Amino acid sequence: MRESELTQEHRDFQAMVRDFVEREIVPHHDGWERAGLVDREVWRHAGKLGLLGIDVPEEYGGAGVRDFRYQAIISEEVMRVGATGIGFALHNDVVAPYLLDLATDEQKRRWLPGFCSGELITAIAMTEPEAGSDLQAIRTTARPEGDTYVLNGAKTFITNGILADLVIVVARTQPGRGSRGLSLLVVERDMPGFTRGRKLEKIGMAAQDTAELFFDDVRVPAANVLGRPGRAFLHLAANLPQERLGIAAYAVAAAETAFAQTLEYCRSRVAFGQPIGAFQHVRFELAEMATELDVARTYVDRAIAEHNAGRLDAVAAAKAKWWATDVQRRVLDRCVQLHGGYGYMRETPVAKAFVDNRVHPIYGGTNEIMKEIIGRDLGV
Ligand SMILES: Cc1cc2nc3c(=O)[nH]c(=O)nc-3n(C[C@H](O)[C@H](O)[C@H](O)COP(=O)(O)OP(=O)(O)OC[C@H]3O[C@@H](n4cnc5c(N)ncnc54)[C@H](O)[C@@H]3O)c2cc1C
Repeated sequence: MRESELTQEHRDFQAMVRDFVEREIVPHHDGWERAGLVDREVWRHAGKLGLLGIDVPEEYGGAGVRDFRYQAIISEEVMRVGATGIGFALHNDVVAPYLLDLATDEQKRRWLPGFCSGELITAIAMTEPEAGSDLQAIRTTARPEGDTYVLNGAKTFITNGILADLVIVVARTQPGRGSRGLSLLVVERDMPGFTRGRKLEKIGMAAQDTAELFFDDVRVPAANVLGRPGRAFLHLAANLPQERLGIAAYAVAAAETAFAQTLEYCRSRVAFGQPIGAFQHVRFELAEMATELDVARTYVDRAIAEHNAGRLDAVAAAKAKWWATDVQRRVLDRCVQLHGGYGYMRETPVAKAFVDNRVHPIYGGTNEIMKEIIGRDLGV
């Protein structure tokens, strides 16, 4: 975020996160990429420092501060070093609001302390092999039986899928009722019938675990239903703006980092007897990227301020998400090009950023779906 958006407290927090990232993440991230997932220990370290569940009330182990700037700072610091295996944003930005806004006091007492300490890693499972953008096509069912729901189905592409101890699953509890028949159920690690499938092989984000999940007659207690049964669609709609804002913040941070690295490269790489940055074409490329990034940064920072003021609606979040991730996609492509052959080598940070962050226009609702949301609001 821009300096002007931050108070001294934010800056102190940023320094603390930066130190944590340098000590606890950077030395291990290559190894986690080879292993295909991060070590649980890093979650516990983050929990100890108060980086998980910042907005969770103090009585449940959080800091009790509802200010999205803190979450954005964590994402930026993680992105600055290309540590895309860290799934804190999914936990903090995406899952936390469900537990904060929908959980009963009893559920909060059960789950939030572990959520904040890093003992309980979370995930949310909406997507299925046959249902991504079109969530009304969800086939996973949860049939009420006594004081349980019997859950059957499969989910795919689930972030933190292997490590997760708690998974919020979107399932159909009332057949034939379209979007009004979906509910949110919290599935816990050891519930019989809950298994994980393949840890999926992605083109990037090698350390981020992304998995298939299977539910075979899993008996989920009714006490694990989150929010109102049959109202999952409304609950998702309420929480997706924050998820999308988080992705926008991530995207701008990724692009800014790659741009800074590329600028440095263009100053030092020599061709035809001069730094490549001295060629007018390259200068113009850099000038255009600097401008687009400024615009995106200003827009996303404003969206964060609007969100903190309770004014970020679904349309504004959709605009921030598609715009920021599209700028990121274009900037990263140009950064790769300006690095020449080195831009195609895995060891070059912009190459890694290019593949790791390509997912931003895809997940959290594709950018095409974002434009649908904006277009519908225009009445067309
Ligand atoms: C790394 C990764 C992590 C993920 N993490 C999670 C997670 O934690 N939890 C979770 O539930 N999901 C997760 N997802 C899933 C992600 O949200 C979906 O992949 C995404 O919503 C798109 O759904 P789909 O893959 O089924 O594509 P589809 O919906 O099949 O879309 C295919 C193409 O068609 C386009 N399209 C579809 N409908 C329309 C339309 N109406 N108008 C115009 N174009 C349209 C899409 O924009 C896209 O370009 C993750 C995905 C990835 C890759």
